[in-house]
Amino acid sequence: MAKKAIITGFIASLLFVSLIAYSLPAFAQGPDLTPAKPEIISVSGITPKKDMIVHILVLVQPGADRNEAAVAALAQQGARPFTSDEFSTIALYWDQFGDNDPGNDKVIQNYNPKNDPTNGAGFTALTNTHTSWNNVTTSSFTFEYGEDTRRCPSLVKECRGDQTFDGNNDVAWLKLNSPTTLAVTWSGTLIDEADIALNTDFNWETDGTNDFDVETVFLHENGHALGLGHSIDFSAVMFPSYQEVNRVLQQDDIYGVSFLYPATNNPEPDPELDPEPTPGVSSVQQIVYVLAGGKNNDKHLLVTIHVVADESDLSGVDVSISLSSDSSRKGWSGSGTTEGDGTVTFQLKNARSLCYTTIVNSVSSDPSWDGAQPQDDGYCKP
Ligand SMILES: [Zn+2]
Repeated sequence: MAKKAIITGFIASLLFVSLIAYSLPAFAQGPDLTPAKPEIISVSGITPKKDMIVHILVLVQPGADRNEAAVAALAQQGARPFTSDEFSTIALYWDQFGDNDPGNDKVIQNYNPKNDPTNGAGFTALTNTHTSWNNVTTSSFTFEYGEDTRRCPSLVKECRGDQTFDGNNDVAWLKLNSPTTLAVTWSGTLIDEADIALNTDFNWETDGTNDFDVETVFLHENGHALGLGHSIDFSAVMFPSYQEVNRVLQQDDIYGVSFLYPATNNPEPDPELDPEPTPGVSSVQQIVYVLAGGKNNDKHLLVTIHVVADESDLSGVDVSISLSSDSSRKGWSGSGTTEGDGTVTFQLKNARSLCYTTIVNSVSSDPSWDGAQPQDDGYCKP
């Protein structure tokens, strides 16, 4: 669904029409019952000391037993399987997203390009998956690229020395011990850190034609790195088995990351501050601010206006707003039409780090607007 809104500068700036499109590709192919080619499965386990989780992508040859392959791959990493109950209580959760300080809401990930078999395309594939996870507008989760590093990811068993938490979330190419293991993601259960290694023994590709597609694997592994387990939805990126290139998050993945890290700029309306809706008139129920776009998903400011009447969403309503900031003499205005959910979203492109407030100028609806400015605490862009 595309939301159309026009916002134009009325003092000194010129802004643009925005289209926010949510695309859900039609890919939904289940695994074959009798695979004619090797199958890639993903298995998860914990270390005996229970403070580390490992997710492993394992290649299973046709006719081979999946469970045996899974248990063997885990044993090779010094881990054992866990139950889904166990996972929900020990899985990684990045605490900075739950501390009500939006300024620290990011996970910095570094990349070691050594041994990259794709002539550097691995870096692009990795940062593409950052964009994919960051662009979930209903979630505040954010990956940020840190630096090129020469470190061996400290949680990965194949690195020299003991597995240790070094405070860095590193991604590297390594020759992994098991010839059937494509990739591993290690994370802490008590300490927030996630490290990833891809096995250089495989014939990795980035042109989308090969099962060993770098971006497909990074997208799945980064789902684990942010704290997701496996999904039972076979179209999901986080489904534990796949045989095809899949570089696009599916609805189930979006639900998952949004459940773990809901959008912090999306507060529930305070019922004490919201006036009782008056029958026979429309009102603006809520103004919501969300950041979106760009490398860190914080480039543009989105302002969503929700129009209701008698507790029902009002679609097709023309809404005009003005946006102002306390420390800038600039102001912006725009008009747009509400969608079926009663909302219209305005985009302020390349919004500066200012505090913004919204004034609703007009709402052309039937029944007519009550004219009341809704509760608006404004929003300060970090
Ligand atoms: Zn997995």
